[in-house]
Amino acid sequence: MLPSLNLKIDMRSPWSGDDGRIPLIAITEGSSADRRRFSVAHELGHLVFHKNAYVTSKVIENEAHAFAAELLAPEKGTKRELLTEKITLDRLGEVKLRWGMSIQALLRRAFELSVINERQHRYLVQQIGMRGWRTQEPTESDILLEKPRLLRQMAERSYGEPLDYASIASDARLSNERVQSILNRYASSSETQAPELPANVMCFPHAVAR
Ligand SMILES: [Zn+2]
Repeated sequence: MLPSLNLKIDMRSPWSGDDGRIPLIAITEGSSADRRRFSVAHELGHLVFHKNAYVTSKVIENEAHAFAAELLAPEKGTKRELLTEKITLDRLGEVKLRWGMSIQALLRRAFELSVINERQHRYLVQQIGMRGWRTQEPTESDILLEKPRLLRQMAERSYGEPLDYASIASDARLSNERVQSILNRYASSSETQAPELPANVMCFPHAVAR
């Protein structure tokens, strides 16, 4: 988990370790929970499909997108959900709360799966622009932010709970503030009590927190 770097690129996903077998997804802060969720799924697609691809391309990006879309909104279930009622932006906002995918991504998914035609898609995209939702979707459809857990879990196992930041800072030769700011980006054990999610929504990583 990295601080926001004010770069256009907000994700990286190399295989790491001496033998290149450790998957690593780096996330920068600042993006919305639904965007982060889709980005992680997209990067997971790169890890699965493009281990030896050192240069990105439209084809590669489309493959990672298709992987993420199918992982988060599988075709069969998504069609069943979206075909029951007329597609409107308000309805997509309700679907977003259950599926954890942004209204814009759901709209694109509905078009990809031929739930709506090109004319309907274009109209709804225009509506999104007019409502100012392209950069900020309505807060009533905000979903919970998921935090990674592993680094903090390692710290908890080594230093106990509540975390003794001063000891960690001393051992790591970092300032207390720096250690806290790093570890607070990860979920504590108390934050891992995920709320009840519908069966069709996967929670990754393990923790959920505001
Ligand atoms: Zn990509």
